[in-house]
Amino acid sequence: MASIEMRNIVKKYGDGFPAVNDVSLDIADGEFMILVGPSGCGKSTLLRMIVGLEDITSGDMVIGGTRVNDKAPRDRNLSMVFQNYALYPHLSVYENIAFPLRLQNTPDDEVRRRVTEAADVLELHEHLERKPANLSGGQRQRVAMGRAIVRSADAFLFDEPLSNLDAKLRGQMRTEIARLQRRLGITTVYVTHDQTEAMTLGDRVCVLRKGLIQQVASPRELYEQPVNLFVAGFIGSPPMNFLPATVSGGGLDTPFGRIELDERRAKAVEGKDLLLVGIRPEYFEDASLVDEAKRPLGSVFTARVDVTEWLGDSQYAYIPYDAPEEVNLKLKELSRELDSDQLRTQAIVSIDATSRIREGRDAQFWLDSRKVHVFDPETGENLT
Ligand code: ATP
Repeated sequence: MASIEMRNIVKKYGDGFPAVNDVSLDIADGEFMILVGPSGCGKSTLLRMIVGLEDITSGDMVIGGTRVNDKAPRDRNLSMVFQNYALYPHLSVYENIAFPLRLQNTPDDEVRRRVTEAADVLELHEHLERKPANLSGGQRQRVAMGRAIVRSADAFLFDEPLSNLDAKLRGQMRTEIARLQRRLGITTVYVTHDQTEAMTLGDRVCVLRKGLIQQVASPRELYEQPVNLFVAGFIGSPPMNFLPATVSGGGLDTPFGRIELDERRAKAVEGKDLLLVGIRPEYFEDASLVDEAKRPLGSVFTARVDVTEWLGDSQYAYIPYDAPEEVNLKLKELSRELDSDQLRTQAIVSIDATSRIREGRDAQFWLDSRKVHVFDPETGENLT
């Protein structure tokens, strides 16, 4: 096994804008690191540079303490699982899994032992004689993983390995990959654009945007303390609500009403004028279900419920709001960080399934103001 260190890695294709722009990232021995970000952010390029399928324009790639920039992929001792599985159609499952061992001229009985072991871990023993064409998507995915684990590689690299599977199978395979990685304890780098995979699989998550690292943190820290608007909007489903807010007297005036801030937050917004307040859907509650005496630091406001969606264990409510046009315009002008749909005109609220709120009626909501995030619209930075 090995650590992976990236030092000031840059990748330029031709004369264009760098696909990867000065990335420095340390992945510890045995760590499960997720690279996540929207399409084109450079995550696959970064993975391909680790494995050696792409040249590095500048910077150092260090694996297990050795600089590998000039090493061929086969000399890096890494196992990669591709999105399309890359199985050999004419070979049986057994021979597909055995393939890396054959390349190393491993003796037959050793091949048999290791393939059987991998097939046991992945529950593939019944299918060893079949050809890939006769397998389901999930089984093919397992064969690809079998081929990756059959030899003792220093690290596993996964490039969107589940994106060709349906939602149910994706969930199952996700759990299997997590279990396998824990069992083998092998350094793993996993590329995905799916934030559920990002949040459930890794020890740490690296969020990329336009070739730049935005934040590297545990899933929990990313969710609770996103460093900027981009991370806050990217992580979480349904997404965080961003409302325009003006600062006055240690509190915030928002389209829903006033939010009183605790001391730390009030200090953070001192001297600011126009801000964006970030509220996750579950920071709201149905006020009639909240014992205010027990939870003093909250704001209560009344809003009209447009649509509700009942999910069994909770429900979403969509509550429209009016932000003064000049405030929205000013925010758009200030902010380079905002996508236009981030300035929505409705908030999504996630509340208890037992709540009796009704579509088309006013309801009272309680907001935990100790949880709200406050963003500088100019820099996107989370001030709280
Ligand atoms: P996706 O999720 O869509 O695969 P990604 O985050 O993995 O995206 P990359 O494939 O790493 O992104 O691409 C990063 C940037 O580099 C993109 O702007 C892409 O168009 C560009 N790029 C990738 N490969 C090449 C190439 N071979 N030649 C030129 N530009 C490329």
